[in-house]
Amino acid sequence: MFKAMGHRLQELMILFFLAIFSKAAEGLKPCRAIVAPDAANNNYCLSWRLAVEANNVRGWWTVPARCLHYVEAYMVGGQYDRDIDLITEQILSYVSGIVLSGDGMDAWILDVDDTCLSNIFYYKGKRYGCDPYDPAAFKAWVLKERCTAIPAVFRLFQVLVESGFKVFIVTGRDQTLGQATIHNLHNQGFIGYERLFLRTASYKGQSAVAYKSDIRKQLVGEGYRIWGNVGDQWSDLQGEFSGNRTFKLPNPMYFVP
Ligand SMILES: [Mg+2]
Repeated sequence: MFKAMGHRLQELMILFFLAIFSKAAEGLKPCRAIVAPDAANNNYCLSWRLAVEANNVRGWWTVPARCLHYVEAYMVGGQYDRDIDLITEQILSYVSGIVLSGDGMDAWILDVDDTCLSNIFYYKGKRYGCDPYDPAAFKAWVLKERCTAIPAVFRLFQVLVESGFKVFIVTGRDQTLGQATIHNLHNQGFIGYERLFLRTASYKGQSAVAYKSDIRKQLVGEGYRIWGNVGDQWSDLQGEFSGNRTFKLPNPMYFVP
């Protein structure tokens, strides 16, 4: 009798453990890929932004409408600032290894829009680039002289000037915006640069690559050594005499050919 009871107890124990095991195994079943619509959209927009930054998507005129909230979150939510900070750390590390010649011919090139000065406030009103480029509105914005310095780039600018680099600011803004650009750079602390180049009438209609290459060619012709070149557009960095090193800052809001 005791033997039979022992068997029964053994069976019950086995059944009990089997029940626990099957319940635990249920939890190990592979999850079905359920992606929330917002997450799927963010995944698409992350791929789009990466492709834009890598210059794999070119000639685009507006940010895809589905990426409005993604780009807004990127630009004002902290990641854009973190990305710029990391790039600037890399630039400063490179700068710290350069031995200046002391002849005053060591040069550096910076772009203006969304490199030295931020246009985020303007682009907020243009749905972060989901609206098409509006030359008249952008000109009116520039004339207000209210662009703010991008903090990390401003720190870089100060280091470059203090280290003895000749900093040349090369912008695609046309000459009619010269005074406003100078005032805005100055009111944001960009003082001590060597020269500011604006797009003169002779460069009207030319691509940024052709125009900026020509300016750099002119500087190299004057004997300057271009150690670095920083811009938010590939067209700031492509072409001739681009510099010993180029640094691309993020900008998912617009594309300048
Ligand atoms: Mg720019």
